[in-house]
Amino acid sequence: MQKTRSDTAARTVAAYAAPAADQPLGPTTIERRALGDHDVRIDIAYCGICHSDIHTARGEWGPTPYPVVPGHEIAGVVEAVGPGVTKFAVGDRVGVGCMVDSCRECDACRAGEEQYCERGMVGTYAARGRDGRLTDGGYSAGIVVDENYVCSIPAGIGLDVAAPLLCAGITLFSPLRHWNAGPGKRVAVIGLGGLGHMGVKLAHAMGAEVTVLSQSLKKLEDGLRLGADHYYATSDPETFTTLRNSFDLILNTVSANLDMSKYLGLLAIDGTLVELGLPEQPIEVQAGSLTRNRRSFAGSMIGGIAQTQEMLDFCAEHGVGSEIEVIAADQINEAYERVIASDVRYRFVIDAATLG
Ligand code: NAP
Ligand code: ZN
Ligand code: ZN
Repeated sequence: MQKTRSDTAARTVAAYAAPAADQPLGPTTIERRALGDHDVRIDIAYCGICHSDIHTARGEWGPTPYPVVPGHEIAGVVEAVGPGVTKFAVGDRVGVGCMVDSCRECDACRAGEEQYCERGMVGTYAARGRDGRLTDGGYSAGIVVDENYVCSIPAGIGLDVAAPLLCAGITLFSPLRHWNAGPGKRVAVIGLGGLGHMGVKLAHAMGAEVTVLSQSLKKLEDGLRLGADHYYATSDPETFTTLRNSFDLILNTVSANLDMSKYLGLLAIDGTLVELGLPEQPIEVQAGSLTRNRRSFAGSMIGGIAQTQEMLDFCAEHGVGSEIEVIAADQINEAYERVIASDVRYRFVIDAATLG
């Protein structure tokens, strides 16, 4: 098909932005660049709300460049492609996660671990792109992304339940694979929120024995339905004596600071606790909680592009999607409050058709 000028020209699209740390998000418009050779223009259908969006919009991780358009759990359909694009065609169902570029030359990039690019990955929002412009995220009607940072969403997964896989899904999939979750491994997930519920589903699908460690028993039935074998309330001090020395792998998805030494005490010999949550304050660890049982305390950040595709394919094969509540754009601020109050089951997803 002959490309018309309008296919590739820069465009103005509707979006929602936070104007300042202490102000609610509101409607705006942003410009998306003209399509470069390897760019894909995506008509966004849905975008998940990750707790990282809230940390950033509220300036909790240090200065945020305002106004910021958050959103890095993007699912949509390819609307146009640049002349050099080989991986995607108009009409393809695609997703974009937390990064839209990286240097492509360093050891990390070459190893497919672009999220650890030595020169710094380019975040989907609030980051400086290689063209020098600030990036804007997925709370918008459309986005232009280099094809190498776009994944295919397999048939069989709805775009709405796929969107949260692009951050919450890969953030749990990557450490589960790295630390070999599978049959015979005892895996615990701390916090049953957006990340946590994906951890339960994925670890279960990989065949591990899964335990939820939630603040209360309020979500017990859900936890078991999502695939957990066991469920404990961390508000009950007995949990920490009952479960002492019992896990091979613990994934901490909590957005606030916890008494980490208590949780480290739950690891068996050679067990690893992987920090995924990114609370504002530093984490304190008692040395003795690590030396006992030769425990490890590790971290992990999203996953590379190839692994994100592997995760999406795994989800399609195993019938895994996110548990979502679809909202209109004018409910974003209310949704933020509910996420902060741990009142989310289990991911809010914005219907991009409501952006304006
Ligand atoms: P979320 O949906 O808010 O889930 C966090 C869960 O943690 C809550 O649902 C709650 O579960 C528990 N929790 C919250 N406050 C707590 C407290 N004060 N004490 C104990 N438990 C508490 O957030 P999310 O989107 O899953 O993100 C979680 C964290 O991961 C955020 O800090 C986010 O920035 C970070 N993150 C990291 C990566 C990465 O690559 N490492 C990627 C994405 C997000 P219960 O009610 O079940 O206890
Ligand atoms: Zn995220
Ligand atoms: Zn690099």
